[in-house]
Amino acid sequence: MPVPMLDLKAQYRTVKDEVLARMMGVIERQQFIMGPEIAELEQAIADLSHARHAIACASGTDAILLPVRALNLEPGDEVIAPAFTFFATAGAIHNGGGKPVFVDIEPGTFNVDPDAIAAAITPRTRGIVVVDLYGQMVALERILPLATKHNIAVIEDGAQAIGARRQVAGTWRMAGELPNVGTFSFFPSKNLGGWGDGGMMTTQDDALAQRLKRLRLHGGAKQYHHEEVGFNSRLDTLQAAILLAKLPHLAGWSAGRRTRAARYTEAFNGLGAVRTPVTDPANEHIFHQYTIRAERRDDLSAFLKSRNIGCMIYYPTALHLQPCFAELGYRMGSLPVTERAMKEVISLPIYPELTDAQQDEVISAVREFYG
Ligand SMILES: *Cc1c(COP(=O)(O)O)cnc(C)c1O
Repeated sequence: MPVPMLDLKAQYRTVKDEVLARMMGVIERQQFIMGPEIAELEQAIADLSHARHAIACASGTDAILLPVRALNLEPGDEVIAPAFTFFATAGAIHNGGGKPVFVDIEPGTFNVDPDAIAAAITPRTRGIVVVDLYGQMVALERILPLATKHNIAVIEDGAQAIGARRQVAGTWRMAGELPNVGTFSFFPSKNLGGWGDGGMMTTQDDALAQRLKRLRLHGGAKQYHHEEVGFNSRLDTLQAAILLAKLPHLAGWSAGRRTRAARYTEAFNGLGAVRTPVTDPANEHIFHQYTIRAERRDDLSAFLKSRNIGCMIYYPTALHLQPCFAELGYRMGSLPVTERAMKEVISLPIYPELTDAQQDEVISAVREFYG
């Protein structure tokens, strides 16, 4: 039985009627740009994330780009980020006018190492973009005091972590609640996926929320009046309608992913060649990805593909080694924990609609490979 890495059609079948009804509302009203669904979705995501403001935008990439632009960076200003993440994290820093400064990760969670951030701060540091990789939150409570001390802004790239939470001093804190700006992506493969591109920014800061709204709309709060040059980065009303229909399912989908993750971890127990993912005990993980470290990783990947079992390497080349950042001067050996991860990781199918039979197929193929 083939097992795809992700099966969007399986989810479509379960939500089709609700989503199409919501979309028809927009189509009947013909208000495709900034219709009422935008504000409704913004309020719903603000509530979910315990944020005063949520501001919709065109993509998860723009959700990072706009707050970086809001830092008003000068040439040579530095923004710290982990090297082990999706390209957009650093692309947005670059396009926002910053110089990315890449730091290493922790070997267990794959999230950025707060001590590495502390060591990378210089007088030119203006921002830190942290990433909640694979769906578990970064230890923000270790990073925010550093940022406050040095007057540096923190952007939390929560593209993979919408609805994830972390216990900080006995209180549950949501992804997007604690940083200066939190960001989400509605790319179709994300845990809350639209039927196209989309993104969201969250903040507790009233003035910053106004600035982000301006940047989203060509820099003008009033129509045809432009205080600065911004972007055309609106979310489509149709996407907001789709996401509003899907949002009530998110918690159940995330729980389903956790169940699947626990089932994999149980099944791989005792398999020495596989190291299962580490969840920080303070975190409730939403398993955007289930990512193991595997011996002979590339052979395992080829074997699974030969059995029609989907798998992916997130990420095969870390950002400090990308050709476009060559002039920053990093080389192999600069970030050893990251470089080891990119050689060892492999992500297995984990969507909520994955059946037990499909998952058993993945498990037995992995077991068979290691004999
Ligand atoms: C998906 C993703 C993004 C970018 O989101 P888009 O909506 O595709 O622009 C940024 N950062 C991370 C970590 C992501 O996984």
